[in-house]
Amino acid sequence: MKATIGFLNAFNPLGNALSQIDAHPDDRCVLERIARKFSHVDENGCVFISGTMDSNGRPRIGWLGRRHRVARVIVAIRDELLLYEDWKWDTRHLCHNRACVNPDHLMHGTRQENSDDCVEAGRAARGKMHGRSKLSEQQASDIIKDTRPHQVIADELGIARQTVSKIKSGERWAHLHEEAAQ
Ligand SMILES: [Zn+2]
Repeated sequence: MKATIGFLNAFNPLGNALSQIDAHPDDRCVLERIARKFSHVDENGCVFISGTMDSNGRPRIGWLGRRHRVARVIVAIRDELLLYEDWKWDTRHLCHNRACVNPDHLMHGTRQENSDDCVEAGRAARGKMHGRSKLSEQQASDIIKDTRPHQVIADELGIARQTVSKIKSGERWAHLHEEAAQ
């Protein structure tokens, strides 16, 4: 049954788009939170929101006790996919703008399809650059808590799997382990 969404608003195109999603009431509240962050639309129809971004400029939102990429949350709810199953599906940006959260520009696909998108958009080289950049303390802390396979985490952040292993073993960022144990 289609639930009524409370944030339908002519001045919020993101709210309008998200209200079209047939979401379970439990999921509706996170869509409303996303809609409230609406910032602007560009000439390509890409929709931008305010709030926290990851190191690649992708907006993130806290939900169910973890931080997630907003685009992935939208696709998961709309396409009835499980958010945490990173090994099963990736979020594809048809507009090649990874900051965009316009549902019409988002679809799910395989990791290979997503990486093909990256190459097509010329983003692959920039991704490698991010790989050389230092991780923030918050990212290291997230890695320690992340229970997914090391390779999956490494791919997401564009870093070497060995780096993830060193962080998890405490060889790097040791003080974060001590804090977590307290
Ligand atoms: Zn877009």
